[in-house]
Amino acid sequence: MAVNRVPLIAGNWKMNLDHLQAIAFVQKLAWSLADAKHASADAEVAVFPPFTDLRSVQTLVAADSLPIAYGAQDLSAHDSGAYTGEVSGAFLAQLDCAYVIIGHSERRTLHGETDADVNAKVLAAQRHGLVPVLCVGETAEDLEQHGASAVPVAQLRAALEGVDAAKEIVVAYEPVWAIGSGQAATPEQAEQVAAALRGVLAELLGDDAAARTRILYGGSVKAANIAAFMREPNVDGALVGGASLDIDEFSAIVRFKK
Ligand code: PGA
Repeated sequence: MAVNRVPLIAGNWKMNLDHLQAIAFVQKLAWSLADAKHASADAEVAVFPPFTDLRSVQTLVAADSLPIAYGAQDLSAHDSGAYTGEVSGAFLAQLDCAYVIIGHSERRTLHGETDADVNAKVLAAQRHGLVPVLCVGETAEDLEQHGASAVPVAQLRAALEGVDAAKEIVVAYEPVWAIGSGQAATPEQAEQVAAALRGVLAELLGDDAAARTRILYGGSVKAANIAAFMREPNVDGALVGGASLDIDEFSAIVRFKK
């Protein structure tokens, strides 16, 4: 299996940083990436600001051709119409979003998103040319009862129903118990689940798609632990929450050295 996956370091800002703060942050991140004192980053860098920031981020990134991708934290399963409060993938595509996070555990838990909702959103993202960053992960209870892989594998199977294997997707393995807790999974656990997820990708989308697809680890990633995750063969990057809001910490994560 030819493996040539560009690592992806993605910052999920959640409901933090307004559009003015976003402009300042993205500018600083760009300076940090361009800083000649450091070796250049080998990873693709993406940020996921709140919806209200996206137009500002687009303007800044486009004006200065910054090497920073961006996306939204959610999208509607519908394309347009009477869906008060929702945001269509068509609108995100108009803002040059490359990616969209789908099925984050906070959406599943706090907003009742089901596997069927997540699947419908993945299909919506694909309709609009957005790359879904599909989040899967087990709770502490799931881990105890079923082991680490069972729930993420089942969530991935459900989310992939009807997807176009030719189009890119990114999978983020985020154990719910590791998110925001300061207690990351071990690199070995992340690798074990990532390998199981890649097996599902191969089964459902084919070997080529499985070999191409980037699988991220997320949950209490910081500068001090990123390298250990990146040394695992099936872990192709990270989805970073809290540590993505600190410019020095996030810059250090992006510059991980294996
Ligand atoms: P964390 O969040 O890095 O703060 O644990 C990760 C996430 O929710 O994507």
